[in-house]
Amino acid sequence: MKMLTKFLSAPEHISSWNQKIRMSYWLIGLITVLAVTGAFFVVAANEPHRLEAFIHKQVIIRIVLIVGTLIAAELVYLLISKAQDYIIIALGSCIGAITLALSSPEVHGVHIVMILPILVGILHFNYGKVVFASGISMFCYMLVIVFVPLYRYEVAFYQKAVGFSFIMIVTLAALGIVNRGLRMMEEEKEALTNEKKHRLEQLALQEVSRVDALTGLENHKTFQIRYREAMSDDRTHSFHLAILDIDNFKAVNDNFGHSIGDLVLRKVGRLLKDYANENVLPSRYGGEEFTIIFRNMDNKQVTGCLERMREGTEKLHLPELEGRGITVSIGCHKREPGEDRDLLFRLADEALYLAKRSGKNRIAW
Ligand code: GH3
Ligand code: MG
Ligand code: MG
Repeated sequence: MKMLTKFLSAPEHISSWNQKIRMSYWLIGLITVLAVTGAFFVVAANEPHRLEAFIHKQVIIRIVLIVGTLIAAELVYLLISKAQDYIIIALGSCIGAITLALSSPEVHGVHIVMILPILVGILHFNYGKVVFASGISMFCYMLVIVFVPLYRYEVAFYQKAVGFSFIMIVTLAALGIVNRGLRMMEEEKEALTNEKKHRLEQLALQEVSRVDALTGLENHKTFQIRYREAMSDDRTHSFHLAILDIDNFKAVNDNFGHSIGDLVLRKVGRLLKDYANENVLPSRYGGEEFTIIFRNMDNKQVTGCLERMREGTEKLHLPELEGRGITVSIGCHKREPGEDRDLLFRLADEALYLAKRSGKNRIAW
């Protein structure tokens, strides 16, 4: 039982399609053995004088050939795993040829077995494998015609020609199917690539409209969205808004030029971004002004964070500023019940004004 389970489960290197086909071939083998065994008892009971010929042709030749071929193929494709597709196709042709050789030519339609490997070739969606299947089927068919006396002498020439034509026609149809299939796959791939490109472009556009290009912080528009969302979110238990403004920034522009001014904005922006998390949301509000939303933090935690931002800016020391430092003033307000967005913003702005008026480089509430 264990051995049977092991046999039925595909060895790792055999693809699932090949495994299914391999199982079908073994099923054909099993049916052949059962049919021959059944026929053996019928002949033994009714026509004992034919028993010896029956054993010779059906039991020995048919069973040995089919089961022998299956075992040989099993060994080969366990050994040569790379060629398993071709071995499976060739095995189909061999089984077809054996079935054909041992059937009476009067049995109509038996030629059909020779096209089975071509159908297997289609499964791989590969021209080479279809052509290989066709070639090997023709070769096996030829062997039957040349070496099986019954076919060689008793089957009319036109019937053999029909057999070959049949294989040819099925080959052409198979190549057509493969061609159509490959084209469809190509079209699908192209459509997927286009869709992916489109999605990436959309994402890039969204990102551009969401983020401030100079500092990489969220921009004014995104701040407004976050401000509204964070205030109305049930999970927001306390809410602080801080407005941070670079001190004497106009003088930086005037003395060192706009590009150095931009550099200062980038540095301050990056510094604020380092503090961003789900409860600390810094944005570039506009010009040299930044907003920071604090959620679910107490006054002490907010002051600590703002103090670190203020000190961090003070310590930036940009060589481009030739020894001059950068400082920021910050106005902060904790939202009290009943304060709406506009009022909260105004109160934070008033606190900023107070910080500026009382000497800059400080936090005011
Ligand atoms: P205060 O200490 O009172 O805040 O003075 P300030 O000079 O910082 O403020 P003011 O409002 O007088 O000047 C702000 C300057 O910021 C004016 C403007 O040219 C400059 N600015 C605004 N946006 C940018 C920008 O993107 N890049 C640069 N380089 N400068 C900018
Ligand atoms: Mg300003
Ligand atoms: Mg300023």
